Amino acid sequence: MSQEKNDFKELLKEKGLKLTTQRRTILELLEKHQGEHLTAEEIYELVKIECPEIGLATVYRTVQLLQELKLIERLNLDDGYSRYEIGKSENEHHHHHLICNQCSKVLEVEDDLLDPLEDEIEKSFNFKVTDHKVKFYGICSDCIKDNK
Ligand SMILES: [Zn+2]
Ligand SMILES: [Zn+2]
Ligand SMILES: [Zn+2]
Repeated sequence: MSQEKNDFKELLKEKGLKLTTQRRTILELLEKHQGEHLTAEEIYELVKIECPEIGLATVYRTVQLLQELKLIERLNLDDGYSRYEIGKSENEHHHHHLICNQCSKVLEVEDDLLDPLEDEIEKSFNFKVTDHKVKFYGICSDCIKDNK
């Protein structure tokens, strides 16, 4: 068992919850599909392969629960869907998203470019920044190429 799975197990146990097959399967699935930003419906389609008895309502309930536990994160890319991805531990910086207006592709930026901005905000507003979420909109390199 990987370290991460043990952590899920510990966290769920702390909350008095069991690591059910369904919860584990959904977590493992999101781990495997990192960077894909799956909707609950897409998660359902993929989970069904391993757990044919699972229902869409259970998937909704499970992602909600996992999100409350901060094991996964919900992401709104302004396309009318809630998308999910595996969470990062609290100290770890979460990546930012680049969204192409033309093909709707979502790219991820791992680098954090906003530390200086956070420092500035802390100084100017005496506000302790604990997190930030950033989405950049624009045109991806593939679309720029196609537009030429
Ligand atoms: Zn992402
Ligand atoms: Zn594009
Ligand atoms: Zn950042």
